[in-house]
Amino acid sequence: MKTLQDFNFEDKKALIRVDFNVPLDDHLKVTDTSRIEAAKDTILKVLEDGGSTVLMSHLGRPKGKRNQAMSLKHICDSVSDIIGVQVKFVDDCIGEKVKKAYAELQSGEVLLLENLRFYNEEEEGDSAFAKQLSKFGDIYINDAFGTAHRAHASTTIVANYFPENKCFGYLLAKEIKAIEKVMQTGEKPVTAILGGAKVSSKITIIENILDKVDHIIIGGGMTYTFIKAMGGKVGDSICEDDKMDLAMDILKKAKQKGVQIHLPVDVLAADAFDNNANTKVVPVENIPDGWQGLDAGPDTLKLFKEVILKSKTILWNGPVGVFEMESFAKGTIAIGNFIDEATKNGAFSLVGGGDSVAAVKQFGFENKVSYVSTGGGAMLESLEGKTLPGIAAIMD
Ligand code: AMP
Repeated sequence: MKTLQDFNFEDKKALIRVDFNVPLDDHLKVTDTSRIEAAKDTILKVLEDGGSTVLMSHLGRPKGKRNQAMSLKHICDSVSDIIGVQVKFVDDCIGEKVKKAYAELQSGEVLLLENLRFYNEEEEGDSAFAKQLSKFGDIYINDAFGTAHRAHASTTIVANYFPENKCFGYLLAKEIKAIEKVMQTGEKPVTAILGGAKVSSKITIIENILDKVDHIIIGGGMTYTFIKAMGGKVGDSICEDDKMDLAMDILKKAKQKGVQIHLPVDVLAADAFDNNANTKVVPVENIPDGWQGLDAGPDTLKLFKEVILKSKTILWNGPVGVFEMESFAKGTIAIGNFIDEATKNGAFSLVGGGDSVAAVKQFGFENKVSYVSTGGGAMLESLEGKTLPGIAAIMD
């Protein structure tokens, strides 16, 4: 498989699938440019070699219809500022206008195409549409991890038209390496910290990582299904009664495989799902009726700290409390601090999947962990052990 470094882009045009699905405010100004910044190195590699780039992305969910509020023209200035080159924009992603702009594209130039999802064919993975896109590059680069779990025309199908000339961009390569480090090559002990609301959404991840990790820390709303299954009283805490058998099965399998599961021992319980509710610390297996566990308790955090600090590879997915409310964010902040400390001591730490990144950004842990994944769903599917179509298409 070729990497970006294997190509010299001198006088070549690179068709790059980027993830420029950025948030816009009411005035259609970009409010968070991280996804554009994340694609910068790949774009600059092509330009510095003496090539040119055609950038394609989706923005929002226009559902196959033109929608000016979701036009990529709104992000041109931000891309130009970040790349340092005045970006050219064409208000379509296939057809005559694009053909003309492509023919006129000179080395050192960047052409941004209009939102791919103005066509239903993009999400349908339509081959004819992908073939038309493929005309706009000598080499195809996929650097959009956020959509790598979708077999869309621009993320997967288009790669078929570049049998030799395709590769991952730097960002996608970094994501793959980070996942490999946790799942295959990471130094032991490897610890996964799994939080979030429901067991049901994490079952496949837990089953997949049982063969790969030494410790699993379980926190957040998931806790109570395990505790109730083991005979505890969880009061009004979130609990999936129909998943209790599954929870017991996980505990059994973990034991067989020699994986240590660490569950909370105490929780911060509240008498309402409200930031201003009355709270008290109670044993996790004895939460009174009318009370619900909304954050990890102090003894739990001590226990989790010990495990985290002796880990050499750490995966963090999901908050250990309702971090959106200040009263129940302390546990999640503490976990971030323990991971920070472990990372400073030399551990490799990866945060990703679903809401974890939001929590990490909110509390400023972004630069304290080794790697923050840019793809919510794509990271979750990777952790579930699935082969992502966008990745497979480059490796084929
Ligand atoms: P997920 O997307 O599965 O990672 O879940 C994230 C959500 O889990 C966040 O919105 C948290 O507020 C929620 N959460 C974490 N702990 C609890 C809890 N003890 N009770 C209810 N919700 C929780």
